[in-house]
Amino acid sequence: CGIVGYIGHREAYPIIINGLKRLEYRGYDSAGLVLSTQNGFQLAKTKGKVVDLEEKASGLDKTPHIGIGHTRWATHGIPNDVNSHPHMSNNNRLVLVHNGIIENYESIKQLLIDKGYIFHSDTDTEVLVNFIQLFQDEKGLNLQDAVRTALNEVIGAYAIAVLDNQDPDTVVVGRLGSPLAIGIGENEFFVASDASPFIEFTKDAIYLEDGDMATIRLGEAVDVRTIQSNEVVSLDIQELQL
Ligand code: GLU
Repeated sequence: CGIVGYIGHREAYPIIINGLKRLEYRGYDSAGLVLSTQNGFQLAKTKGKVVDLEEKASGLDKTPHIGIGHTRWATHGIPNDVNSHPHMSNNNRLVLVHNGIIENYESIKQLLIDKGYIFHSDTDTEVLVNFIQLFQDEKGLNLQDAVRTALNEVIGAYAIAVLDNQDPDTVVVGRLGSPLAIGIGENEFFVASDASPFIEFTKDAIYLEDGDMATIRLGEAVDVRTIQSNEVVSLDIQELQL
C-alpha cells in the first residue's frame, strides 16, 4: 500500500502513476488517484494494478498540477472499485487517501449516519473524510484545523493526504504508525510513503514523525505541527543519498 501526491508546476498525473509503480513492492489490491481542477475533482480508481488504473484514467484531463494517488491493501471492505481510494466527502469538497486502519470507525460512522451522512463504501477511510467534513460544516474550521480535530478523535494507524477544493494549492498530510515523506523542490512539493517516487526531482525531504501533520501550500514553507497539541515542529530537512 502506498501514497503519492504532487503540487507544483509539473503535470501531477505522470508523477503519481510512476510513483505508485515504485511503491508496488509494498503490495496492494487496488489503485486510485484524484486530480484537482478549477471545476472540482477528477477521480479514477479500480480494483487491480496501476496499469488498470492507467486504463481507467484514460479519459481524464491530464493537465492539472495537483493530485494524490493511492494503492490499497484492503482491511475494511473487500477489494473492489467502490472501496478503492481516494474517497470523497458527502459535499464533494474533500478528497482523501489513507493507508492504515481507523479502529473506532464504527462509532464515528454511526454518529455521522445519525446526522444524515451517506456512505457508498465499506471502508473506515470514507468515515474519516466525512468526519473531517463534519468539523468544517459544524465548527467552520479550515482544512488544517478540521483534519487535526478529526485525527485527535481517531484511534488507529494512518498516513493520510487530503485535498479541499475550497482551499486550492494546498495538501494536508498526517501520520501515526504509517510512513510519510515530503519532498521539497523549487516551488513544488511531493508526498509519498517513501522517497522513491520523488528522488529524481529533489534531494530535500522531510520524514514526518509519528503524531505530526503538515500543511503543504504552494509558495510557503511547509507547516509541520503535532496533531495532539498543535505545536509547531521545527523543520528537519534531510538530504537524500542516491
Ligand atoms: N483501511 C483502509 C481500507 O481498507 C486502508 C487500507 C490501506 O492501508 O491501504 O481501505
